[in-house]
Formats: sequence, C-alpha cells, structure tokens
Amino acid sequence: MKLSKYLLPTLREVPAEAEITSHQLMLRAALMRKLASGVYSFLPMGLKTLRKVEAIIREEMNNEDAIELLMSALLPAESYMASGRWDVFGSEMFRLKDRSNRDFCLGPTHEEIFTETVKNTVKSYKQLPMTIYQIQTKYRDERRPRFGVMRSREFIMKDAYSFDKDQAGLDASYEKMYRAYKKAFDRMGLDYIVVDADSGAMGGSGSQEFMVKSDIGEDTIAYCEKCGYSANSEKAACIPEKGSDEPMRDIEKLHTPNVGTIDELVSSLNTSAKNFAKTLIYRADDKFVAVMVRGDRDVNETKLTNYLGAIEVELAAASDVMEITKANVGFAGPIGLEVEVIADNEIMEMHNFVVGANETDYHFINVNVGRDFTPDHVGDFRTVCEGDVCHKCGGKISICQGIEVGHIFKLGTKYTEALDCTFLDEDGKPQVPIMGCYGIGVNRCVAAIIEQHSDEKGIIWPMSVAPFEVIVVVPNMKDEAQKNGGEMIYNELKKLGIDVLYDDRNERAGVKFNDADLIGIPVRITVGKKFGEGIVEFKERKSDEILEMSIEDAINKAKEIVERER
Ligand code: ATP
Ligand code: MG
Repeated sequence: MKLSKYLLPTLREVPAEAEITSHQLMLRAALMRKLASGVYSFLPMGLKTLRKVEAIIREEMNNEDAIELLMSALLPAESYMASGRWDVFGSEMFRLKDRSNRDFCLGPTHEEIFTETVKNTVKSYKQLPMTIYQIQTKYRDERRPRFGVMRSREFIMKDAYSFDKDQAGLDASYEKMYRAYKKAFDRMGLDYIVVDADSGAMGGSGSQEFMVKSDIGEDTIAYCEKCGYSANSEKAACIPEKGSDEPMRDIEKLHTPNVGTIDELVSSLNTSAKNFAKTLIYRADDKFVAVMVRGDRDVNETKLTNYLGAIEVELAAASDVMEITKANVGFAGPIGLEVEVIADNEIMEMHNFVVGANETDYHFINVNVGRDFTPDHVGDFRTVCEGDVCHKCGGKISICQGIEVGHIFKLGTKYTEALDCTFLDEDGKPQVPIMGCYGIGVNRCVAAIIEQHSDEKGIIWPMSVAPFEVIVVVPNMKDEAQKNGGEMIYNELKKLGIDVLYDDRNERAGVKFNDADLIGIPVRITVGKKFGEGIVEFKERKSDEILEMSIEDAINKAKEIVERER
C-alpha cells in the first residue's frame, strides 16, 4: 500500500476526550474515529488490525473443531422473553419495534439464538458434541461507555456455544475452548492471567476470565503469590479475620450528632472502623434487606445477588432507607429492624462493636451478636482486600486491576431447558443438552494490546496483529534515485508476500518518522542519503538501534523477522 493513496489521518494532538493510552493512540494513529458516545468507526488501519485479531481467533477456534456461522444482530424478542432475559437485560438492551409493532432487540449476546438454532437443526446424540461460534457485532447500551472501544455500545464479539450430552462432555468442550483462548491471546502478544469468575446464581458450574493486568482495568483481581490462586474480586472467597476475646460490656446508646461518615464517627468515639459494623439497606428486586459488614469492608453485591437468587440488587434509595430505619441515612443498625438482616461472617467475630441505632443522631456501642441481635443469614458477603488470608493456602492475597478480554463459562441447561431444546439419546429418549458459552471482545483485545505495547512515541505492534509488517520510508521524495529505490524495495517486499506500507508522501522527513513511530509498524526500512552507496537503514520499532546495511540484507532481514514473528 502506498501511503500517498491511503487514508491515514493521524493526529498530532492528544484528543481531550481520551483518558487512557490505547484510546489516545487509537485516535491519534487513525485506527478509528468516534461517532457517538461508545460508538466508533474503524478506519483502514484499525480495520486491518481488527481483521488480524479476528483471523487469529478464528484459526484457534477452528483448530479445536468449533464451527463458524453467522447470526443476525437484529433479533426477535420471543426467545429472550422465554429465557427471561428480555427483563434481565433491562436498559442495557437496545430495543426496537418493526412496522407491525413487533418487539425486536439488537443482540447483546446470543445464547438464546444459538439454542434455537440447535433446537431446529440437531436431532440426535450422534450430532453431539458440537461447538458453534460467530464473530459478530453486539449491542449493549452500557451505563458508562468509556475508554474508547474498551467499553463501547457497539462492539465485535467472538461468541461460541458448546452443546453436550453430559457433564463430562461439557468439561471436555470447555477444556478445548480454554486451550484455544490461551493460544489466541498468546499469539496476539497479550500478557494475561486466567482467573476464577462468578458463575451467577443459576445453573453455572464454573467460569474463568482471561484478564490482561493493567492499572486502567475495570475488574479487580485477587491473587495469591504463594499458591497461584487468582479470582475476580466479585468471586474471591474471604476468610473472616479473627476478633478479640474481650468480655461483653453493657450496651449503651450514645448521642452522636454531626458525624456524617464512618471516619468521623470512629474518630469521635475514639475507636477504629474495624470496631464498627456497617448496616446497609439494599433493594433486591422488590424486597429490602439489611446487609452488615465490618466498617472497613465493602459489601460484595455479586455474592449478595447470588445468595438471594435476585436479578438485581442495589443500595436502597434514601427515602426507602428513611422509611425502613425511621432515621436519616447513616444511622441504620440491626437492632429492631423489620427487614431481614444478612451478616458477613466477620460480624460473628466482633465484640463490643458500634452500630447505628435506627434513630437519627444515635448509635449503640458495646453491641454483641447473640445478645443484642441475631442475624437471619450469615455468610461470605464482603469483597476481598489486599492482605487478606488466602482461603486456599493461608498465604497473603494481593490485588491488581485487569481488563477482561475473554470469558469461558459452563452454563448448564438454563437456556436449553427454557427454550425446550432437546436431542434423542441412544435409547430414543429426549434429553436436554448441557451448554457452555465462550466470549472474546475483539475490539477490546485491540485496545488491550496497545495498552501493553506502546511507548511515548506511539504504538509498538506485535508482528502478528500489526496492520502492516514493514514500512518503507523515503525521507526525501525529491531525490529521484531514492524515490525509485523506495519503490523497488516496496515491490520486492510485496513479492515476498510481506504486508508493506510505502511512505511515498511529499512530507518532511520529521513528519514521516513521527508517523512511522506513531502507527507502530514493526520493521522500518529507510531509503536515505547513503542509497547511492547501496546502503539503507533498518530499524525495528521495539528497539532504538538503527542499523545500516545493503538493500539485499535489509530485505532478507525483514523477511526473516516477519516470518518468525508473524
Ligand atoms: P464486562 O464485565 O466487561 O461488562 P461482560 O461480563 O458483560 O463484560 P461478556 O458478556 O462475558 O462480558 O462478553 C464477552 C466479552 O466481550 C468480554 O470478555 C469482553 O471482552 C467483551 N465485552 C463485553 N462488553 C463489552 C463492551 N461494552 N465493549 C467492548 N467489549 C465488551
Ligand atoms: Mg457487561
């Protein structure tokens, strides 16, 4: 490709809206442009990388015998109504009506549609196991689209669904996808870890996420250096910290005006947050519950949702809190509350602690479980913290941030049952297939690759996903010999099957070198002043070293590197 005839509107300035490196570079290197919040158009260079990422995923899926097909993005509502997800998706689902007023959505994910397809096409156990997949556009009206294509409202997903006769079959299908994912992410040059993930309240029997460690990641990962355990913090199990053995003291009600926060309260009582039990009022679908965790802990809403089997839990509105506690927000406590009290395990370890008194400006001190109140439910309802004890080995838990690029999930029969999908077993009896589902965020992968492969000058593409493998730069196009030399090397490289970009623009040398660094093509060959002596410059984007060599050596070296790293 000749750059003079290409579409590469690179930007000098960092666009103000882009907070993170990958988003900035995807705009500056002209991979994409924004159309609306969370909606992007891919420009030619961005599309080339996107297609390379897709090709890697496709190859690895095919290698594990998954079969590619393509579903519509425009989907009738019925299957989602049958599975219950027409409601579950809530405002995240883009909904529309056709001219006859029938309900449709733009597919946020396709479990229902794949299940329908299998229901209509698979009849016998002889056709199973089967894993089918697509690489297709998804739509989710995310509450907070951000970081460019990292979290967008339209994005490309590779979604696969396995159908098996029994649990052992599902385990094997899952294992194959695990392998395919590892190979695909390795080939993309991503440095990632696989973490245990939440598998929801219903059906799922196992789930793992592929996480790219990054400070800008929206997921929190808990891991143990000692035994290698790692889990999404939504899921990571917590061990309660042992409490003291001090004897019970008499409970007292204290007047505590003007203390808005836990910090203010504990400092005015001259105690610590560890000696305070937070009581938070939650709305779980259409009922209210009170959840207690130690003052320095956070309620884990995923654990709470799963425990309650709820579709959605969220903190109750202030007006509801006031009605339930008969006090202003901030004074809830377990004593005398009429809603169910759900306590984290750690509350059972505490003695002589502080709680709200369900009365504005009052707290109880020296509260003890058993004597002063008894929770209705006790369990693991808090989020893991840095320094916690690992529940597997007793080691120490560390916390880091991660970008979820892929997710594999043993689903069970939730969808096949809901949609009445069956096959005939060896005895001719109808059975329900067991499903797994497996997703990769294709454009999120592109962004994650850039997060891990860039410097202050721009992107440093791994060869496997680089939009072009080699760039040929002629800094001075006015020099006929150099211009012809550039053209000749460009043609030679093309003949070798290398994906090559030729910067033949009438631009200043500085502009050309800056752009070459910004767009991050792995190998650069510069045809400059020494071309008359048969010498060109050879540089890899990831190294600072500029080598001088003969034209032939440069071409051979480029070929060797491309073929090795591609
Ligand atoms: P998240 O927790 O990030 O919202 P999710 O659990 O909703 O992800 P899945 O439904 O498992 O994601 O989708 C499979 C993959 O699709 C994810 O692993 C992620 O890589 C990608 N993905 C999900 N939502 C988005 C989005 N809004 N923009 C870009 N990629 C996304
Ligand atoms: Mg999501």
